[in-house]
Amino acid sequence: MKVSASVKKRCNKCRVVKRKNRAGKSIVRIDCSVDPKHKQRQG
Ligand SMILES: [Zn+2]
Repeated sequence: MKVSASVKKRCNKCRVVKRKNRAGKSIVRIDCSVDPKHKQRQG
């Protein structure tokens, strides 16, 4: 999974998932059912 400072949807099947980690910081993930390469994580 790619980790970058800014994440973006790469296709219309990409989904934005907002989660809080254990430290209470919210991170944004991109989840894609079409292309696993589209999966990204911010941080
Ligand atoms: Zn995608």
